[in-house]
Amino acid sequence: MDGTSKSDSWRADRDHFIHPYTDFTTFAETGSQVMSHGDAMMITDEDGRSYLDGIAGLWCVNLGHGRREIASAMGEQAARLGYFNTFGHSTNTPAALLARKLAERTPGDLNHVFFTTGGSTANDTAVRLAHYYFNRLGKPAKKKILSRHNGYHGSTYFAAALTGIHGIHYGFDRIAEDIVHHLSAADCFRRPDGMDEAQFCDFLVDEARYRIMQLGAENIAAFIAEPVMGAGGVLVAPEGYHRRMADLCRENDILYIADEVVTGFGRLGHWFASEDRFAHVPDILITAKGISSGYCPIGAAIFSDRIHEVISVPQGPGGVLTHGFTYSGHPVSCAAALKSIELYEQEDVFANVLDTGPYLQERLQGLTRHEIVGDVRGEQLMAGVELVANRASKTSFAPELAAAEIVFGRARELGVIVRPVGNTVIMSPPLIISREQVDKLVDALDQAIEDVS
Ligand code: PLP
Repeated sequence: MDGTSKSDSWRADRDHFIHPYTDFTTFAETGSQVMSHGDAMMITDEDGRSYLDGIAGLWCVNLGHGRREIASAMGEQAARLGYFNTFGHSTNTPAALLARKLAERTPGDLNHVFFTTGGSTANDTAVRLAHYYFNRLGKPAKKKILSRHNGYHGSTYFAAALTGIHGIHYGFDRIAEDIVHHLSAADCFRRPDGMDEAQFCDFLVDEARYRIMQLGAENIAAFIAEPVMGAGGVLVAPEGYHRRMADLCRENDILYIADEVVTGFGRLGHWFASEDRFAHVPDILITAKGISSGYCPIGAAIFSDRIHEVISVPQGPGGVLTHGFTYSGHPVSCAAALKSIELYEQEDVFANVLDTGPYLQERLQGLTRHEIVGDVRGEQLMAGVELVANRASKTSFAPELAAAEIVFGRARELGVIVRPVGNTVIMSPPLIISREQVDKLVDALDQAIEDVS
């Protein structure tokens, strides 16, 4: 296809934009679908085709598209002060107010906010400052990080090293292999045969305990985990897992980093899942995405009082904590986040999650009528449907068959956008979804699976 019948932006994109996570086998031929505008649950391309957005952009547009209030807050802030750095002792009003707001909304003594540009840079920040913290405490050997297979923590070089999804590393170098150690994923669907959920939980915690013994607690700085794994296939851990892992970490002076980039800001019906759903307070909490409802790039690593007390003591040349990004505390991003939080509060959005979330999960269970559906799982407005070649043996489809990709393509033709990740079809709609829209999403997916089975 030479693209002559396509728009100028379609051609510009094809010729010059290296997309994140792009399959180049077909890119030059098909190019990209140019999205043009959005309204609430709907997203429309430049040819006027509209879709129900079943993935909130990419787990982030929690308040839905086209929110004038957020656009106005950003525009007004850009006109007043578009940018000035926050290095040293400068700040700006939205950044200061947002830091306080986050301290109020996060659990326990998570009171100190380091702003970043997104989730990857927040995870990098968490690890870099965790290392710094132990250096300051005179424990410089504490460097290792426990992560998990299937965990997704981002695409900067270190966040990618934390990431445990094997396919993502294909053809790339791996760094920090002496530092990052991956534990088993809390994957209930693929747990060892014959184990019930409680036994699987024991198995996972015992494995972690054993690994800590092997590596030496004196060499381990932190454990990082998503409350519910997202990009790794929407994996919900066995009941009690996070609480027990948090206890294990505490016993061994290992910091617990909760990567709430997806689960924060309502996806599981609460501000944050760590405490409200999984009954523990992490030492460092990571957020991004829903913090600004996806309207502006922003992330944050939020630290406990205990860590802050150590890292805020001046040392070295000029007493400076030498870490930061040009856009840490960007005023326009912070204004978007403040307005988003105000809307979460005013519109009781999380109550809608607690109503439509269980409804989505219940309706999705109906998809097990299809032989190729191996597992339907998730919690609230985070859902995954794993496709299998053989249900009895749980045998996966070969990657080259791109089963989930094909279902995604058909669902799109039927007017809904879902997301294929490996063999799993993922859904994470805006939190404002209605029951009728849940029906539309699930009916289209049902039809798509039927059509391609
Ligand atoms: N952590 C989790 C759990 C994520 O899902 C993501 C992105 O999807 C990231 C970190 C990386 O965030 P970003 O893409 O904003 O760097």
